[in-house]
Amino acid sequence: MGALFDPAAVNAPACHIVAGKRVGDGRTTLAVSRPSDGIVHAQLPVADDDLIDRAVSAAQAAQLHWRAMKPRQRGRLMAAWAELILAHREELAQLEAVVSSRPYDECLAIDVPTAAEYLRFYGEYCDKLEGSITASSDEAVSLVVREPYGVVAIVTPWNFPVILSTWKIAPAIAAGNAVVLKASELTPFAMTRVVELAAEAGLPDGLVNIVHGGGGDVGRRLVTHPDVAIVSFTGSTMTGGRIMADVGATGVKPVSLELGGKSPQLVFADCGDLDVVADHVTWGITRNAGQLCYAGARLVVERSVARPLVERVSTRMNALVAGATWDAGTTLAPIISERQRDRMTAIVEASVAQGAEIELGGRAFDRTGGRFFEPTIISGLRPGMAGFEEEIFGPVLGVQIFDDADEGVRLAQHPTYGLTASVFTRDGSKALKAAKALAAGTVWVNRWGRTAEMMTSPFGGYGRSGFGKESGRPGVEGFTRQKAIWIDLNDGAELAHQVGPGGSVVRRP
Ligand code: NAD
Repeated sequence: MGALFDPAAVNAPACHIVAGKRVGDGRTTLAVSRPSDGIVHAQLPVADDDLIDRAVSAAQAAQLHWRAMKPRQRGRLMAAWAELILAHREELAQLEAVVSSRPYDECLAIDVPTAAEYLRFYGEYCDKLEGSITASSDEAVSLVVREPYGVVAIVTPWNFPVILSTWKIAPAIAAGNAVVLKASELTPFAMTRVVELAAEAGLPDGLVNIVHGGGGDVGRRLVTHPDVAIVSFTGSTMTGGRIMADVGATGVKPVSLELGGKSPQLVFADCGDLDVVADHVTWGITRNAGQLCYAGARLVVERSVARPLVERVSTRMNALVAGATWDAGTTLAPIISERQRDRMTAIVEASVAQGAEIELGGRAFDRTGGRFFEPTIISGLRPGMAGFEEEIFGPVLGVQIFDDADEGVRLAQHPTYGLTASVFTRDGSKALKAAKALAAGTVWVNRWGRTAEMMTSPFGGYGRSGFGKESGRPGVEGFTRQKAIWIDLNDGAELAHQVGPGGSVVRRP
């Protein structure tokens, strides 16, 4: 397989971006390694408290300027940023692929263009966020207006770094806020460059800043900063809970959480072409090597089609090609870290010890220094087993078999997670009944997975998968707060009819 680019030649911006400028004065650094070959690619400076303060102050100043700008002009600047991202598409795709699990060709064709599209999509909201007028007598007018919060702290994970960061930044700034981003310390480079391009596109310096470092120190300091007005987080359920506790202990501010999942792929016997369904099921658990919040991790399948479907999925899994993210033809991505790979191994082994059976794969392996995990199928998965309860975040598909539709829906429900679900059947009413019954924030019928087109509809979990919605109108409205403005048209004469302390009627002398 040929290399699509030379990883050693990728010049990583190992710096923070504060007030539109590169800042690299961290005395402490973190090594950022390439999961594809295990080599340390660059040292990342870690922000100290002073730098975090400077980033938040820069955002506060820029937000005042941004808010005062005409909404249509803000939209034009967001569109210009999108164009600049597309003009740097190859560079950004390399920066994304080199230290992440994202194959370069997908970064080029999907991740970078989708990030630009989010900026275009939400840029169009800048002058279309409307308030309302509520009921009142002829003697008053009641307005409800939407206002930005101020500074938004955004914290994001490593699995789709550019997409997951821009799908928060775009609606946050469209609503009139400024942003300080802490991207994952494992995959910081593409987003650093994307943020740098914002100033080049003409957005005010400091409107979007990025500071780097670990979650427990830099992330914690940022989300609890007294001048941060709202927190938007994507990551694990455990970290989400910790952030809620830290924010609650240090102040009061809204927090939105996009967390983990354990999504079912519910396949009925009348699902139609089994080859098509097998394509969805396989892609649903092997895309990005299963390192995906809405990975279709549980195949819940009707008995009569279980064996032929599992055989088809096995065939497809066996055909995957493990490779570096810069290799042409890589279809099985590397695992981001040793910690993550060890965690997968431990959950698979625990499930086997609890009575599950491995039908395919089941082990971690190395390839040219890179870390990988075999595409795996585990059958006999039941509630209580580690492989059922916990998010594995790897290419591991658990199989559960049912005999009638009600049992299928019951098995597909997860006791804690509820991010997404897929339902495969050609029977429309059966599909709708299952979709309504499943406790998940998104249900796909006869397909698995999001596409860029779905940015029009809200995305977000139920239960331990989090709360708050991203994408669509709710995605931008979540970054606004509503203010009621009541205007008395009668020179305050209304006061004469108000009830005063103790129930007495207040009357003017
Ligand atoms: P993680 O929770 O370990 O880290 C996410 C981010 O939070 C990182 O930037 C990290 O540095 C930071 N962080 C860690 N501790 C922190 C703290 N105490 N305070 C503030 N910030 C802190 O998650 P991860 O391993 O990077 O990502 C994988 C997880 O993300 C999986 O659970 C996956 O399901 C979830 N995820 C969810 C969605 C979604 O849309 N629901 C999308 C992608 C990933």
